[in-house]
Amino acid sequence: MLTGIHVVLTYQCTGECDHCFLHCGPQREGTFTLLQLRELLHESKKIPTVDTVYFEGGEPFLFYAVLLEG
Ligand code: SF4
Repeated sequence: MLTGIHVVLTYQCTGECDHCFLHCGPQREGTFTLLQLRELLHESKKIPTVDTVYFEGGEPFLFYAVLLEG
C-alpha cells in the first residue's frame, strides 16, 4: 500500500559525498519547478492511502521558495 510520496526536489547539494546514491552535488542540475510540483501534489491527492509527502534531495533548502510552497 502506497502511503508516502518522496519528492526529490533537486539533485543539487552543498555536499558531494562518496556514498550518495543519487550522486548529488553542487554541479548537479534538475530541480522541480513549481508547476511540476503542483501537478505532482494534485495527482498525489487522488491516491487515498497517501498521508505523507516527504521533500528530499540533494539539499531541498537550496530552493526554499519552492519547498515552502510545497
Ligand atoms: S544528498 Fe546527502 S549524501 Fe548526497 S551529497 Fe548531499 S549531503 Fe551527501
